[in-house]
Amino acid sequence: MEKTLIVANWKEHKTNSEARGWVEVLSSKLKVKSEKLEVVVCPSFVLIPDLHSQLSILNFELSLGAQDVSKFEEGQYTGEVSTKILKDFVDYVIVGHSERRKHFGETDEDVALKIEQCLKHELAPIVCVSNLEQVSKCQSVKVSKTIFAYEPLFAVGTGEPDTPENAQEFAGKIKGKLGKNVRVLYGGSVNSENVKLFVNQPDIDGVLVGQASLDAEEFGRIIKSLNH
Ligand code: PEP
Repeated sequence: MEKTLIVANWKEHKTNSEARGWVEVLSSKLKVKSEKLEVVVCPSFVLIPDLHSQLSILNFELSLGAQDVSKFEEGQYTGEVSTKILKDFVDYVIVGHSERRKHFGETDEDVALKIEQCLKHELAPIVCVSNLEQVSKCQSVKVSKTIFAYEPLFAVGTGEPDTPENAQEFAGKIKGKLGKNVRVLYGGSVNSENVKLFVNQPDIDGVLVGQASLDAEEFGRIIKSLNH
């Protein structure tokens, strides 16, 4: 059975020393390697190599992800970071987050190209979707290794999560379309109080956590509440 995935999205937060502090606090809380959970943190690009160098000395297993990736393989694309560059450091890439779609004009076509790049270089894309049309737009690419995150717009960063029943219904529809093997996460105002309600749903395989992942104490509580 696949492990439950807990993904922290730090967005445009944390300096290098804050990131180190977060890892230290979490490491002091979590002493065991979990059979049931995989914990992933997605920091900003520049923090990734330093965090990567600390992974082997942690008390718990932590994987790394990026918050975005270039849709281009390589070349004259100033400011972009490719899958080939990321591959030495991360296993996952968040693709098509609603904040990228909203603030940076990212389209479904861009998202499809980014998924293609991830799969070509064996990184697992975590594709954020808020409706089923966005899921359909991904169908032309190989979905067997793709993870979807259902993130309703009203719930992201607002403190107003969707209901676990709605999230389950959406996750069930994605699996109905693409097959039971597709992993589906829920994201949108998840915290240590509500995380279990989402993860207990039959078709929800984990969570994507923004705000509540910034505080190592709270993120530790989220992990602990699922690790029983
Ligand atoms: C997110 O960043 O994907 C997210 C769900 O944020 P928050 O948990 O703050 O709603």
